[in-house]
Amino acid sequence: MDKFMEMAKKMEQMSPEEKKQMMQKNRSMCICGRCPTYNSCMKGKNELLFCSTGKSACAVDMKACICPTCPVTNMMGLSHAYYCIKGTEKEQRGM
Ligand code: SF4
Ligand code: SF4
Repeated sequence: MDKFMEMAKKMEQMSPEEKKQMMQKNRSMCICGRCPTYNSCMKGKNELLFCSTGKSACAVDMKACICPTCPVTNMMGLSHAYYCIKGTEKEQRGM
């Protein structure tokens, strides 16, 4: 089982409160705000953590993706990118 699957399993066993805290922690580590693809619409909607929450509700012009350098990628064992356009890690894995 890869790291992401282990983390997903771990999160399934967490209480709603623990899950919420984990999401908040990851959100605080998200570096999307520094990405060239991140736009004013996303900022206005306070969107972040697309790897967990999925595609942006905004029109997005794909420029680059800095997700591979984000600490959440390493911590959660993520293996994809462009989550704001392509959807969550789970969705991109076909889960
Ligand atoms: S991997 Fe990308 S979407 Fe997920 S928290 Fe990091 S920068 Fe944000
Ligand atoms: S998900 Fe990737 S492409 Fe989208 S804003 Fe975050 S770092 Fe940039």
